[in-house]
Amino acid sequence: MKWLPDIKGILEPFTALKYLFKHPATLTYPYEKRETPEQYRGFHRNDQTRCIGCGLCEDICMNEAIDMVRPDVIRNPKNSSELVPRVDFGRCCWCSLCTDVCPAKSLTLSSEYSLVSNDPEDFLYAIPDAGKKENEK
Ligand code: SF4
Ligand code: SF4
Repeated sequence: MKWLPDIKGILEPFTALKYLFKHPATLTYPYEKRETPEQYRGFHRNDQTRCIGCGLCEDICMNEAIDMVRPDVIRNPKNSSELVPRVDFGRCCWCSLCTDVCPAKSLTLSSEYSLVSNDPEDFLYAIPDAGKKENEK
C-alpha cells in the first residue's frame, strides 16, 4: 500500500498564524475595562447631599436589600430622619425600583461593576459613608 502524506493535517496548525495579526478579543483586565452601555445597572450611588432620608427605597425593595443607616456626617440639612440607605449587594437583583421611586433622585445606579477589596464587608455595602445600622446608634 502506498503511503500518502497528510498534507492538510500538516498545514492545518499554521492557519493559527493569522491570529497573530488580529486584535485580541480579550481585555487585559483590570488595566482595560469593557465599556458599559448607557443604561447599565451597576453599583448604587447615593448623593447624600440630596438624600432626604425618606426610606422609600427601603420600603419598595422586594429583596430587603436596603436598610436605613445613620451616616457619619449628615450632608443634607433636609434629611430629617438623619438616615441614608445602605445596599446589601448580596441580596440586590438590580431591578432599579429603588432608584425609580427616589423622590430626591439622589439614589442612582452607576456604571461601576467591579469592586476589588480585601475587606468582605465592602462587598455587602458599597455606598460610601453608610455608617452604623439604625439599631446600632
Ligand atoms: S435595585 Fe432592586 S433589589 Fe436592588 S436594592 Fe434596589 S430595589 Fe432592592
Ligand atoms: S428614596 Fe431617595 S431620598 Fe429617600 S431615603 Fe432613599 S435614597 Fe434617600
